[in-house]
Amino acid sequence: MNESAILTGCVCPGCGAALYEVVSYETTILSCLSCGGLAASRAQVEAMLTRRWGETTRGAAGARRAAPRVGRTPACPRCGAGMEATPIDPALALHVDWCARCDLVWFERDELAVLGLSAEPADS
Ligand SMILES: [Zn+2]
Ligand SMILES: [Zn+2]
Repeated sequence: MNESAILTGCVCPGCGAALYEVVSYETTILSCLSCGGLAASRAQVEAMLTRRWGETTRGAAGARRAAPRVGRTPACPRCGAGMEATPIDPALALHVDWCARCDLVWFERDELAVLGLSAEPADS
């Protein structure tokens, strides 16, 4: 349990639990403490990837490729609109759910693992 987690009115699109605001990789993101999912803006994701991998080694995450997303996309935890599958990074064959209205990217826990990210970085 993250002591600085703040309960929000947003609901996890994965498991339906309430999302918490947590500080991770020096930015405030929405995290599901039940299933390990995470929501952040694309700019925040960029910053997290850069912080995790560095500018030059970022593509290393692409070594672990995820299967293309198929099927339904969940509803945005912030506005409830349907999200669309979007590639998160040209170097990665990973599609994540993205709300164009909120600019909010939703990651499931296995998708975070592919990126080498987690809501609670081990190096902090
Ligand atoms: Zn969840
Ligand atoms: Zn939205």
